[in-house]
Amino acid sequence: MTLEQAKPLGPIPAGFATSHGELAIAGIAASDLVARAGDTPLFVYSAQAVREQVARLRAAMPERLALHYAMKANPFKPLLRLMAGLVDGFDIASGGELALARAAGIDPARISFAGPGKRDRELEVAIAAGVTLNLESEAEAERALAIAGRLGITPRLAIRVNPEFDLKGSGMKMGGGAKPFGLDAVRVPALARHLVASGADWRGFHIFAGSQALDAEAIVETQAQTLALAVRLAREAGVSLPHCNLGGGFGIPYFPGDRPLDLARIGDALAENFAALPDECADTRFCIELGRYLVGEAGVYLTRIVERKVSHGEIFLITDGGLHHQLAASGNFGTVVRRNYPVAIASRFDAEPEEVANVVGCLCTPLDRLADKGSFPRAEVGDLIAVFCAGAYGASASPSAFLGQGPALEILV
Ligand SMILES: *Cc1c(COP(=O)(O)O)cnc(C)c1O
Repeated sequence: MTLEQAKPLGPIPAGFATSHGELAIAGIAASDLVARAGDTPLFVYSAQAVREQVARLRAAMPERLALHYAMKANPFKPLLRLMAGLVDGFDIASGGELALARAAGIDPARISFAGPGKRDRELEVAIAAGVTLNLESEAEAERALAIAGRLGITPRLAIRVNPEFDLKGSGMKMGGGAKPFGLDAVRVPALARHLVASGADWRGFHIFAGSQALDAEAIVETQAQTLALAVRLAREAGVSLPHCNLGGGFGIPYFPGDRPLDLARIGDALAENFAALPDECADTRFCIELGRYLVGEAGVYLTRIVERKVSHGEIFLITDGGLHHQLAASGNFGTVVRRNYPVAIASRFDAEPEEVANVVGCLCTPLDRLADKGSFPRAEVGDLIAVFCAGAYGASASPSAFLGQGPALEILV
């Protein structure tokens, strides 16, 4: 197969350098990182890259907008500790994540908890800790009020709204039509009144319409609709709007042709929309909740080639990693058409492409493919492969127990 016949690879995020021919992450050569961690496969997260991403975001968004980290993207403890100093709040989706957040020293008062199937014991621990619950149904509200009553605690309660719109072009639609998430907008005012009347610490609305959008216009439109919906629902209910979580959806480029999000466009539009808010929202605290945008591009997955094989004329670089750590890169996590992530030969990062090869994992399944017919420098057994955009939904969203492989190592540098 000639280089012209290769399939394109996704765009490598900015900020990665070469050190003695190797990929360097946070200034450290890939082989040194592997030596430091002790083995491959390995997730490397760059603290500097996360800091810079947060700073870019803050610079573009109105000052009034608070920033939350959706920790399901990556709950690695050292990363959570880093985030604690960088963001204003944390969004969790399970009691397990609450335990991880607390173990990382995060103040529960900064945490809000969404999730459509919260169990009583999760509600109890969250209420006792002072976490804000984003209630997903009337029944959950009753359970939360009963538990709070039993504990003698005033619960912090918000309502997660299932909006009538969704985030256009988003990778994962989380609003619009029938959904297991949140309460249909028409039923929200009655529940809001009930929560306020029951003496809860009323925390407003959480409205999340989708994930992984790269179209700034789509995010601008969704944020405008979200603000309008929150104002209308609070008015209809006759309640105040102390807090409003506007969701997130900021995407990162994973695939060939993907372009980075135009942050300035989103920030400018949001500033205009904030300025046009009615008087009753003068004290409302607005936030967005982002996972992958904050940490996705800061992570690299390093795996070592254990076999170089030719089959029917195609080259296979077989690695010690795979979809058990990189489900999304293998195309098996919410994608319809498999496209290549950004992948490179880390140990020959500055070398020119010479051949077309498939990078596969070590699992006995044809699904385990990290790069399909990519053009690479010639790589040998022992070389390191880098899969980029591995900072979010890699370690935390892949079936690491599959085939008895176990989790990858992780380090924050
Ligand atoms: C998953 C999720 C997020 C984070 O999504 P990203 O695409 O990682 O930014 C935010 N909010 C809610 C409610 C989610 O379920």
